[in-house]
Amino acid sequence: MNIGFIGLGNMGGPMATNLAKAGHVVTGFDTADVSVEGVETVGSAAEAAADQDIVITMLPNGQILRAVADQIIPSMRAGAVFLDCSTVDVESARHVAEAADQADLLALDAPVSGGIGGAQGGTLTFMVGGSDAAFLKAKPLFEIMGQKAVHCGPSGNGQAAKICNNMILGATMIATCEAFALADKLGLDRQSMFDVVSTSSGYSWSMNAYCPAPGVGPQSPADNGYKPGFAADLMLKDLRLSQQAAEAADADTPMGQRAMELYARFVEEEDGAGRDFSAMLPRFEGRGRG
Ligand code: NAD
Repeated sequence: MNIGFIGLGNMGGPMATNLAKAGHVVTGFDTADVSVEGVETVGSAAEAAADQDIVITMLPNGQILRAVADQIIPSMRAGAVFLDCSTVDVESARHVAEAADQADLLALDAPVSGGIGGAQGGTLTFMVGGSDAAFLKAKPLFEIMGQKAVHCGPSGNGQAAKICNNMILGATMIATCEAFALADKLGLDRQSMFDVVSTSSGYSWSMNAYCPAPGVGPQSPADNGYKPGFAADLMLKDLRLSQQAAEAADADTPMGQRAMELYARFVEEEDGAGRDFSAMLPRFEGRGRG
């Protein structure tokens, strides 16, 4: 296929390279001066999108996505697929899909989980919103860039699935970290805490697969000085998107709200910026109730 790829950053760069390695012709654009293996870069988003079978975007936020959509939709050919893999607000995803639809394009929102390692290794999970026809066209590309693509329903539903998942993740990571910090104060060693909880009803992905305590459980960013991994800043972004969506849909999400507030304080007022989101554990360590 002929593919346009816009946003060649930490995630987009390796995703584009994997498509090129699989034999697709990839033409890319990024506002930063980047060079990406296997990708021919051109001077504008519109140029990268012109006459392609599929155009993929991997951008920082919904505002930038909307601006890029305005630039590329007029140059895309009818029947082509506009595949956005960025994590953005549900409203922007639906807005862009509608604009694409009006221009006779097929639109998909397909945010990912799996992080930079997943992008490099081609093992991402895609959560996809859009029509069956669009999903089928993009499926071979999901299989190259990832190991799983779940079709979640119409446009916007991929973003909805992503932020609901990460709202659970943010809240369970905080709960796991505060429980470890309480266990410390009660004199319970961390290995015993892990051995019990990871096989009891308090278990979760945060405890079992990504344990925030160094030296305990599987290898995780905690064993690497809390270098991300999944940065607390990105968790904060996703929690904010979840609360923006909850506000718009009038959904009561007190745990998500509290998780957002805690990550905001951690990233913006404490030392959380640039650290893994599991660094909530050293944050809670030693803190009292005051
Ligand atoms: P990044 O900042 O490394 O990459 C974004 C790229 O977009 C940059 O290279 C930037 O120069 C480019 N860009 C910005 N404005 C542009 C424009 N108008 N036209 C063209 N290019 C433009 O970010 P990333 O880590 O690659 O993340 C991309 C998206 O993936 C985000 O929405 C993020 O939330 C999501 N995501 C990231 C991770 C992760 O672990 N990094 C995991 C899951 C999802």
